[in-house]
Amino acid sequence: MLKENLEFVENEIQEACRRAKRDSSEVTLIAVSKTKPVEALREAYDLGVRVFGENKVQELADKYEELPKDIHWHMIGHLQRNKVKYIIDKVDLIHSVDSIRLAEAIEKEAAKRNIEVNILIEVNVAGEESKFGVSPEELPKFVQEVAKFPHIRVQGLMTIAPFVENSEENRGIFESLRKLSVDIKEKKVDNITMRVLSMGMTNDYSVAVEEGATMVRVGTGIFGARDYSR
Ligand SMILES: *Cc1c(COP(=O)(O)O)cnc(C)c1O
Repeated sequence: MLKENLEFVENEIQEACRRAKRDSSEVTLIAVSKTKPVEALREAYDLGVRVFGENKVQELADKYEELPKDIHWHMIGHLQRNKVKYIIDKVDLIHSVDSIRLAEAIEKEAAKRNIEVNILIEVNVAGEESKFGVSPEELPKFVQEVAKFPHIRVQGLMTIAPFVENSEENRGIFESLRKLSVDIKEKKVDNITMRVLSMGMTNDYSVAVEEGATMVRVGTGIFGARDYSR
């Protein structure tokens, strides 16, 4: 099942790249393994998956200990400042930086360890009240402030689009995120690159790729539905 799912998703990404005249090597598929047991991740690993996304600190740290060290872990969920220290040296990229206070906490822990930490700025493009993220209006100022932290490397932007029945409804959201990244790129701020656009989930990753996503975060489409009752 997992093998077929993975092949399906990889194929959809290639098709979307073809439609958008993009090279599929520009797009990284992040297998979102939250709530799934280590055995499921191992199965994906054996099929060649090396990039996993988790949204809880404890779960990420536990899986990190149990699985091979050549896995690239991505923190995609809301991160509390007091938990930064548990994952900072385990993840390739933190997708969900949504406040200056969180960036400060990351800077402090990174400085202690003398490491550089790659992050994305989470943008609440749709302006949904229930979602975390910097508003598009606040973003330019936010970028200027984060750029001052010497141990943080901003690699791009991330957004979580609303849940919609028809993925076309999110096309405008993805287009907006890409435009925001272009605006920032043009300002040429030190310490900031905009090489990553993390957008698109199971329901809308094809549209996101057409609109320029360089990372898509797919959970259900690879591992099947999540069971939160356990
Ligand atoms: C759970 C999650 C995903 C994956 O969602 P699916 O719809 O299962 O693909 C992607 N991004 C974030 C931030 C998530 O929390």
